[in-house]
Amino acid sequence: MKMLNLKTAEEIELIRESALIVSKTLGMLTTEVQPGVTTLHLDALAETFIRDHGAEPGFLGLYDFPNTLCMSPNEQVVHGIPNDTPLKEGDIISIDCGALKNGFYGDHAYTFAVGEISSKTQKLLEVTKASLYEGIRAFKKNNRVGDVGFAIQNYCESFGYGVVRELVGHGLGRVMHEEPEMPNYGRRGRGKKFVDGMVVAIEPMINMGTHRIKQHSDGWTITTKDNLPSAHFEHNIALVDGKPELLSTFAYINEVLGIETDEEVEFRIRK
Ligand code: MG
Ligand code: MG
Repeated sequence: MKMLNLKTAEEIELIRESALIVSKTLGMLTTEVQPGVTTLHLDALAETFIRDHGAEPGFLGLYDFPNTLCMSPNEQVVHGIPNDTPLKEGDIISIDCGALKNGFYGDHAYTFAVGEISSKTQKLLEVTKASLYEGIRAFKKNNRVGDVGFAIQNYCESFGYGVVRELVGHGLGRVMHEEPEMPNYGRRGRGKKFVDGMVVAIEPMINMGTHRIKQHSDGWTITTKDNLPSAHFEHNIALVDGKPELLSTFAYINEVLGIETDEEVEFRIRK
């Protein structure tokens, strides 16, 4: 059995520091996500920003990934490689970002609208983000991995969306991907039990249509099998005093987008 790598309070604060660098990076990128901008340009901005904050890009070189950001537009699910194709009005772009500081990783993601998007696609983004909070709410003492997966799956499937099976959330710490695996589907009461000191990345990857995906020949890019859009939102969460404590925040993004929300408030125990 693999180690759960439970974290001390000090270690959780270091993960929070790395996670907040990612949160700020995504906030910085929010103003830059516009029609005509290339994902390579955004990638360069993010790398500079992360290094200026005393951290290293968490994904660059990890499993030989070539860039700082995973940039997955439209039908791409995750792990897209930045390129010189400009974003266009009506696209969505999932940006996944990692940072490494003091030996600990932060890792989270947000799916942005490029200009005006269709109401159908907007709904996919809203439901996927809401499902992330459904999952986080289930990350509590005496619950199990399957409870988080069930919460996300049950919520998203009630909208007719497909929940990706092949890619999952994970434990987080000195290693980007630790135990336990955190699937976005599951059965209540199944899997590893949650205990204080666990730190996880919960990251629903939700498709407008089928849950089935295709892996592309570059070894990275993953798209939906029916080429309908896919959304991805991710947070980093510690289990503290039996409750989920959010280490990352979308507050910097919301500030730029003018979104007023209290969606994170219930998961702020100490701040
Ligand atoms: Mg990620
Ligand atoms: Mg992750």
